[in-house]
Amino acid sequence: MIKFGPSGFCEDFAEKHKSTEEMPEWLKEHSLKCYELSFTNGVRLSLETAEKYGRLFEESDIEVSVHAPYYINFANPDPVMIEKSNGYIIESLKRMEKLGAKKLVFHPGTQMKMTREEAFENTYNNIKNLINVLDEYGFSNYYLCPETMGKHGQIGTVEEIAKICAIDERIIPTIDFGHVNSFGQGSLKTEEDFAEVFETFKKYLGERFNKVHIHFSKIEYGKKGEIRHLTFEDSVYGPEFEPLAKVLKKYNIEACVISESNGTQTKDACIMQNIYQSV
Ligand SMILES: [Zn+2]
Repeated sequence: MIKFGPSGFCEDFAEKHKSTEEMPEWLKEHSLKCYELSFTNGVRLSLETAEKYGRLFEESDIEVSVHAPYYINFANPDPVMIEKSNGYIIESLKRMEKLGAKKLVFHPGTQMKMTREEAFENTYNNIKNLINVLDEYGFSNYYLCPETMGKHGQIGTVEEIAKICAIDERIIPTIDFGHVNSFGQGSLKTEEDFAEVFETFKKYLGERFNKVHIHFSKIEYGKKGEIRHLTFEDSVYGPEFEPLAKVLKKYNIEACVISESNGTQTKDACIMQNIYQSV
C-alpha cells in the first residue's frame, strides 16, 4: 500500500493554523494518510505533547514517521560524537513511542576529511552497533530508515544505503528521489532509471526490498549535488513523479511517500496521490 502526505507545515497550513494538533484534521480534509514530523534542529517535543499528538493522529488514521535531527553523523571517528548521535536517535524514539510512529528517518553521515571508504566503514559499523543500543533501550520494534543523500560530501548513495540496510531487517531505506536525482545531476528521467534504484535494493535486501520509506520533491542541483528544494512548479531540475508512480505499482512497493516541497508539501502530496491513482 502507498500512502501520501507532507513533511511539516506547508504555507497554506501555517497561514491559518499554529499547532501540530490541527494537522490530523487538515490531512483528513485533504484525503492524505501520512505525515512526517521533523526534529530538524533538536528533539524539543515533550513526551506529554507527543502523546497528545499521537492520540489525534491515531483517531484520524494518519501514519506518522519522524525525522531525526540533522546533527547526526555516524561517520565521525570521535566516539564522543557517536554517543551524541546515538542520543539523538534514542530521544527521537522516546517521542515516537508516544506518537505511535514506527519509522525513524536519519541522515547517515558526512565524509569530513576522510576517504569515502573510511567514512562509509565508520558509518556502517556505528549503525550496526546502534541496533544493539536500540535493543538495550527496549526499542527493538522500530525501523531505522537511513536516507539517500543529495550532496557529494554526504554518505548515502543508493548502494551505500542498500549495504547499510542489509545489516538488519529493522533497517529499511528512506529513498529520497530528489536527492538521488541531485547526486547524479539529473540521473532520474525514465521509468528504467527509477526501476534501477529498486533493483539495487533487491540485490542487497532480497524479498523485503519493496518495504521502503520515500521522500519526493524536485530539487535544484549543481556540480556538488543538491542545492535547494523546489516545488512542483519547477520544470528544469526534476525529477518527475509520473514514471516513479508506474514503477511503484510495477514493483508492488509498500511505502509512505512524503512530500518535501518548499512550502507546497500538502498540495504536492495531493498531486502525487492523484497521479498514482491515474497511472
Ligand atoms: Zn532528510
